[in-house]
Amino acid sequence: MHKTIIVGTGPAGLTAAIYLARANLAPLVLEGPQPGGQLTTTTEVENFPGFPDGIMGPDLMNNMRRQAERFGAVFKTGWVNSIELGQRPFVLDVEGIGRLEAETVILSTGASAKYLGIPGEKENVGRGVSTCATCDGFFFRGKRIIVIGGGDSAMEEAAFLTRFASEVRVVHRREELRASKIMQERARANDKIVWSLNRTPLEVVTSDHGVTGLKVLNNSTGEEELLEADGIFVAIGHTPNTGFLNGQIDTDEQGYIRVVPGTSQTNVPGVFACGDVQDRHYRQAITAAGSGCMAALDCERYLEALGHESVTA
Ligand code: NAP
Repeated sequence: MHKTIIVGTGPAGLTAAIYLARANLAPLVLEGPQPGGQLTTTTEVENFPGFPDGIMGPDLMNNMRRQAERFGAVFKTGWVNSIELGQRPFVLDVEGIGRLEAETVILSTGASAKYLGIPGEKENVGRGVSTCATCDGFFFRGKRIIVIGGGDSAMEEAAFLTRFASEVRVVHRREELRASKIMQERARANDKIVWSLNRTPLEVVTSDHGVTGLKVLNNSTGEEELLEADGIFVAIGHTPNTGFLNGQIDTDEQGYIRVVPGTSQTNVPGVFACGDVQDRHYRQAITAAGSGCMAALDCERYLEALGHESVTA
């Protein structure tokens, strides 16, 4: 039986792992299909304190993992099929590992990219439609790309894709962008980026050779338009990964885990949540890491109250 199992290895889960490992609690950390989380699909991280010259996302996550391992965190790869929270100890059924028992669980499963749900989109993922510029941008060298969305993700993806594409067109459903000022300014200053604002995506258009464009509704004129492109990157936000909890943990209407304000405590004592899976608001690497620290400290105190020995960091 494990004192604590951490599910998910983004900045939240890995920070929790560092703190719990340093408290001699030897956490078991379960890595899912995307070890390191969303930051492994990003390029340079410029806003994580302590790196004045920036750091590549995968390097930052690798450093955090090594730091946790150094203090005794144990990593295993396995998709959590289900989790039983109505009994003590908690029971996790993990693909490729089997049944695991834990006195406490830290949920740090993050969030996954959202899709638009328009015709031609899902069936062409990997064939011209993508949600990850750093993963797939390389395939569009010299091609025309559309990025859908008006937030920071869309600006970041668009700017990154100009390294490969002949042209990047940002398609956004409103006239105003949601992205932060600095990201907007950078994108607007990039002369490889062109704009189709106030356009609602309707359909991904394909031929036998793959994606050829995006049909949109021009919201000003009410007319349909065809925007030609060889690749389409959807960057419209994320959905929290809470499906495997099967309704046993309180979430808000969008599926984000509810925690007791100012803590990482969920509605089930002994189950803590941190990172994007419980944060619909900030969703930054540094806030995820901070909440991972909170979860570790809350977990440690909970175990102490149950009578476990630990060495406080
Ligand atoms: P976001 O801020 O929620 O933006 C999502 C964008 O997609 C919005 O512009 C939204 O349009 C659009 N959208 C959503 N659903 C749509 C639909 N069905 N059809 C068409 N458009 C749709 O998400 P995000 O850009 O992923 O950013 C999330 C958080 O991460 C933010 O806090 C952001 O600051 C942060 N972030 C930071 C960085 C950085 O600092 N380097 C990079 C990436 C993300 P509306 O505007 O009309 O709602």
